[in-house]
Parts: sequence; structure tokens; C-alpha cells
Amino acid sequence: MRSSKEIMEKTEKFGAHNYHPKEIVFETAEGVVITNPEGEKFYDMLSSYSALNFGHRHPELVQAAKDQLDKVTLTSRAFYNSVLGDWMEKLCELTGKDMVLPMNTGAEAVETALKAARKWGNFVKGVEDGKQEIIVCSSNFHGRTIAIVSMSTDPDARKGYGPFTPGFKVIEYGNADELKNAINENTVAFIVEPIQGEAGVIVPPEGFLKKSLEICKENNVLFIADEVQTGFARTGRMFACEYEGVIPDIYVLGKALGGGIIAVSAIAGNKDILGVFKPGTHGSTFGGNPLGAAVSLKAMEILVRDNYPKMAEEKGNYFMSKLKEINNDDIVEVRGKGLFVGVEFKENAAPYVKKLIENGVLAKETHDKTIRFAPAIPITYEEIDDAIEKIKKVFSK
Ligand SMILES: *Cc1c(COP(=O)(O)O)cnc(C)c1O
Repeated sequence: MRSSKEIMEKTEKFGAHNYHPKEIVFETAEGVVITNPEGEKFYDMLSSYSALNFGHRHPELVQAAKDQLDKVTLTSRAFYNSVLGDWMEKLCELTGKDMVLPMNTGAEAVETALKAARKWGNFVKGVEDGKQEIIVCSSNFHGRTIAIVSMSTDPDARKGYGPFTPGFKVIEYGNADELKNAINENTVAFIVEPIQGEAGVIVPPEGFLKKSLEICKENNVLFIADEVQTGFARTGRMFACEYEGVIPDIYVLGKALGGGIIAVSAIAGNKDILGVFKPGTHGSTFGGNPLGAAVSLKAMEILVRDNYPKMAEEKGNYFMSKLKEINNDDIVEVRGKGLFVGVEFKENAAPYVKKLIENGVLAKETHDKTIRFAPAIPITYEEIDDAIEKIKKVFSK
């Protein structure tokens, strides 16, 4: 058996250094627990940025993958496959939308939403092609492509990548008045995360989403919710927009949609919007592949059958109440919704993260000062209690 050290050294030697991973190697994993090559166990409290809402290797998802592996894995969209229609129907049912368009990664789904909005703006709203504008929020995270980093306000995400894609306007996250003022006759869409994940689990002021939706409706502007990280029960609702009764024009979905096994992403919207796509105008070789569709279909069935939103809400409330009991003057705030929780510190949180890992709890600081806790939704109360004991030990002074 190779040691963690050897494995990490090889990874650093041959891989570009676009990540700075914590020094833990996953050898095997089950549920919320991972095991390293030395046989030590850790709680996974990051869950691959919420792609692992079902936990590692949920038995029914593994079985769905195995069953589909024995049938057919890839067809491309040049042909039909026997799973995709069922998957589409299920995702339409969950989102309440007419149509979906499958891709693979979250960034591809965001790109698809931007393309849908620009085309809709030109074909339906009548904005001159090339003049379409899309409004974005400060501190957003929507992915890593050139167009998407063109929307970013994070210098690390942008530096050296110019020239950028034009047509984006930034407003302050949480400020609906700024949204109103930013809209003009060429505005086609507003894209927003209902809770900002990468920015540090930032919950916007209550009413922001609802007010933004109203402003969009008044001005014939599409409201696009990027629920790639918040979607599929993470926050205690199937979609985080539900907290304000907001039904977006376009849902952008990914991460947990693939059940933690395979990259599956999509946008969902009604015919008047997704109908702008005609054959040859957009696509993806792997998008809608039967392996991804089979796993994802099973994942959506489990979400509903086991009432994941309720599980996340109840366990999240319990978990957050325990975190709030911790006495440490360095903690500025414990915030979040459901099992999407951020603990913000006065200063850099990396030393706390290091100690958490030494004590068997995997987490990562985001934007220096906030530690995000987002365990798999099937985590048991015993596991929460055990993890809380360890977290308390590290956080208490
Ligand atoms: C992770 C994330 C994305 C990008 O997804 P990838 O699969 O990494 O491309 C987009 N939007 C949000 C809100 C995300 O959290």
C-alpha cells in the first residue's frame, strides 16, 4: 500500500497547481466517512461542495450505475437513449418547468443559461443581437470558463485571463435597488445564487430574491437562479429560492444532480425560453448520456422518497444550534440554512481547519475567514454529535 505522502507528492509533481488541497488522501469512502491509505477515518463535512448530498457511494445510486453499465453508457445526442426521457420528465416534475437541457458540469449549465438568455433577448424580447446585457452580483461564483470569469469580481479568478466577455454588469449582492437601476432596454437577464456558496455561505437580506424577481418581471428580464450548490435539498428546501416563494425563469443545476457519481448538470425553464434552441445551436457530446441519466434519475427519486429537504432542515437546525453554543470570541457569526452552514472568524480560519483535520473532521475555509460545513444529508444524529464534539474541542478556547 502506498502512503498518503507518496500519493500527494506524485499528484503535485505531475499535476498543474490550480488547487491547494488539504493534506488528506481519500482511499475509500462510505456515507459521511472517508478512509485514508493509512486506515484513518474522517468525517467529510465538505461533501465535494455539495455534489455529495447523498453521501459517498449511496448503495442505490451505485446499483443504478452498475445496472446501467451493463446496458449502454453513451449514445451522444445524435441518437435517442431509453433513460433520458424519463430523467427529463422527472427533472421537469421537480422544477415545475416545461423543459430541460442536459449538460455535464455546473459551468456548462451556467453557460447554457447565459446563451438561452441572450438568444431569448434577441428572438423574443427584441434586443439587437450583440447588445444583450446580463446583470450579475458581486462576490458571485458561477464557474471557471472565460465568459463566467468575465462575470466574476474575484481578482484570483480573473487575473491574466483577459480579454473578457462583454455584456455583464455587476450589482451589490443583496441590493435590489441597484438591480433596478442597472436595468435598461438591453437587459435580458439577472443571474443570482440564492445563497452565495463560495463567497462564504452568504445569506442575502430577507426579501432580496422576491424583490429582485418582481423587478425582473416588471422589466421583462429573465431571473436565473444558479442553484448548482444550493439545489436538491442542501438548504432544507428542494431549491433555496423556495424560502422566498421565488420561482425563477431558469434553474441552473449541477453538483448533487449527478448523485456524487458522475457529472450531470442542466438548465430547466419553460417553452417560451428553452424553445429558442434549435438543432445545431447548442449541445454537448456527453450531455444527457444514459449512465448519468440513470444515476441522476435514481438520485431524484431518493430525494423525494426520503424527503431530503425535511432531513436537511431538521438536521441543519440541530447542527447549527450546537455550533452556536460554542464559546469563542474569534467567531463572528454562525449562519446558513439547512445543512449549508458557514462559521465566520475574525481572522484567517486556516489554522482552525488544520486542527479540525487533525481531529478527524474534514472542512475547508472559503475566502479565508469562513469555514463551510455541508455534510451529506443522510448524516445520522450520532455522527453529528460525534463531529460536534470534535469541532467544539477545536473551536473552544
Ligand atoms: C460549483 C458551482 C458552479 C460550477 O460548477 P462546476 O461543476 O464546478 O463547473 C456554478 N455555480 C455554483 C453556484 C457553484 O457552486
